[in-house]
Amino acid sequence: MTALADLLRKQIKATGPMTLAQYMSACLLHPKHGYYTTQDALGVDGDFTTAPEISQMFGELIGLCLAQSWMDQDAPDRFALVELGPGRGTLIADVMRATLQVPGFHAAAELHLVEASNRMRALQAAALPAHDPTWHDSAETLPEDIPVYVVANEFFDALPIRQFQRDPKGWREVMVGLSEDGGLQRGLSDPAPINALNSRLDDTVPGALIETCAHATAVVDALARRIAANGGMALFIDYGGWLSDGDTFQAVRAHRPVDPFAEPGRADLTAHVDFEALARAALIAGCAASQLTNQGVFLERLGITPRAQSLAKSLNGDALDAHVAAHRRLTHPDEMGSLFKVLGLYPVDESPPPGLDP
Ligand code: SAH
Repeated sequence: MTALADLLRKQIKATGPMTLAQYMSACLLHPKHGYYTTQDALGVDGDFTTAPEISQMFGELIGLCLAQSWMDQDAPDRFALVELGPGRGTLIADVMRATLQVPGFHAAAELHLVEASNRMRALQAAALPAHDPTWHDSAETLPEDIPVYVVANEFFDALPIRQFQRDPKGWREVMVGLSEDGGLQRGLSDPAPINALNSRLDDTVPGALIETCAHATAVVDALARRIAANGGMALFIDYGGWLSDGDTFQAVRAHRPVDPFAEPGRADLTAHVDFEALARAALIAGCAASQLTNQGVFLERLGITPRAQSLAKSLNGDALDAHVAAHRRLTHPDEMGSLFKVLGLYPVDESPPPGLDP
């Protein structure tokens, strides 16, 4: 039993079952017991490995995509370079290194990082010794008077979701309550109509389960309003699909799936990203959204294979094998290549970021 489990049980006893979003927020970001506030989440020794931790090529290609897009929009002499949920700072450090040779890019860039965990902020500061980032708790406080160029890798999957099960009488919400013996347990609320879910009545049948993420649409709205007003772009890279369909809530600890209710605060909790909801929020805010593109296709279009070949020239033995495996892992459809998708946002009168289709 974790300290957080005890707190959550007391809270549920006092005020009744909580939504999955409340549970997820507490597990991930509780100031004393949350997963991102207390654990070394990322990397080989952590609970999961992300694309920038697999190979420097990922951040390099994202950096070139950001820089090319900045040049395509006439190289504004001041802009915000933004990462959402930078983890250990590996991606943004690779972006900065890869763009060093792009004339004017570093001089024009102001680095802004959106990060909720102080522990993660310290890792990011250490990864960026030569830069002076400004940290934000939320996308709402990002600059509103300059273009924003944004990247978010495995950020949206960490945001709290709610789950609703279709019922002949409306929807039942998945709630976290207490079992007979006092443990945390998943349950369902009484059915009721929910106007905000009316658009899903046509494509679901009773019994179907869908997920919503209000936090994600709020973040996209904040970014898309800025891109529509001042220019820039955003790249969202994550696992997920088009239109939420079914239960994707999962917990991972030490690279293995575990019961999400067993040890709150000790496992990473995520859900697949509903890119349709992100694209819709962007369009409503006046921004264009690209076609949803597989990560493997996106990275190939940006030139990962020639980059991999050029890096391979200075490698041999185990290092070469690891490098070849990393290339495959990032791009192959049986690995991350098609599970992970990329969505780009851009101003309606500009072309999409390199590697993505309008
Ligand atoms: N992008 C990194 C890390 C992904 S892990 C990579 O690819 O390696 C998710 C990151 O998002 C962590 O840095 C975590 O602390 C941060 N995070 C999670 N929820 C957040 C929230 N609600 N607001 C801001 N940052 C959050």
